[in-house]
Amino acid sequence: MPRSVSNPEELTKQLTQTESGSIRRRALAKSITLVESTREDHQNQAQILLNSILTRTGKAKRIGISGTPGVGKSTFIEAFGLYLLSQGLRVAILAVDPSSPLRGGSILGDKTRMEKLAREANAFIRPSPTSGALGGVAQKTRESMLLCEAAGFDIVLIETVGVGQSEYEVASMVDFFMVLMQPNSGDELQGIKRGIMELADAIIVNKADGDSLKQAERTRQHYQNALHLLHNRDEWEAPALCCSSTENKGVEDIWSMLQCYFEQASSTASLTSKREQQMSDWLDRLINQQLTQMFESHKQVRNALPSLRESVLSGDRTPFDAAKTLISKFRS
Ligand code: GDP
Repeated sequence: MPRSVSNPEELTKQLTQTESGSIRRRALAKSITLVESTREDHQNQAQILLNSILTRTGKAKRIGISGTPGVGKSTFIEAFGLYLLSQGLRVAILAVDPSSPLRGGSILGDKTRMEKLAREANAFIRPSPTSGALGGVAQKTRESMLLCEAAGFDIVLIETVGVGQSEYEVASMVDFFMVLMQPNSGDELQGIKRGIMELADAIIVNKADGDSLKQAERTRQHYQNALHLLHNRDEWEAPALCCSSTENKGVEDIWSMLQCYFEQASSTASLTSKREQQMSDWLDRLINQQLTQMFESHKQVRNALPSLRESVLSGDRTPFDAAKTLISKFRS
């Protein structure tokens, strides 16, 4: 990365003060690259940048979109994103791809996605951070989201695959979490993870078109019932809606539903308290993460750990005792 690119003051200016959309987008791309970098000097510059833009964040609507591969996420995001642009909104799309840190490959990023949207001046699309991202892929996405907000995007869509931890991570950084499903039989519905239904603020049954139309409506009913059981005591009763991303049907209703949510959540201040809780949790996680890093890289801890682990495994010490010994080494 050339020197000028990582100058946080220059980036802040380009992100927040320029009238030119293309300069802003370029500055945003560079800023995210800086945030994702594992180099220590870049990390320091990224923190300066983030601190300087913080007061300009928080105005966007943060929306998470999850679903298994093939359910139609990129097709949906393209249709939905283009609709939002037609409403005069600026849309940023970030991805959290759980496969990249694990297998090196990418579920989301391999194919050409959202081609039309990518050509639009008021859209910004950024694939998942690379595997080496310091502090985890999700943390980088969180910081990237703040950068998108500072650059004036009205909507930040965060996409993830319905696999493993990533949907929990995304749900913990957005205002509203949507799960895309396919039309399916009642039997398949039994297998849906309960956790995901609890996370969902809405379920969207995609591919409600052609021969699948009736099946989609039945599926929607099933999900609606399931959501009702789970969320009936919440302030927001999560709905299930149908849509066809290829035929561009139902997209408008999804936006109306979201507007309704944001109006309600703003008027009851639940949006503010949700964001405060997320910030507070994020702080706790960062503290934990950094303490663990410091602990694990502490020389005496590193030296003592293998033999202490041995003695725990052989039954000579309790794990509690071993942990206490290590911590006293760390503190001395
Ligand atoms: P992703 O892996 O979740 O991003 O899914 P894609 O957006 O790549 O879509 C997977 C396949 O489903 C593609 O062949 C799409 O054309 C198709 N698809 C997506 N949305 C719809 C839809 O609303 N109706 C129909 N019939 N097919 C769709």
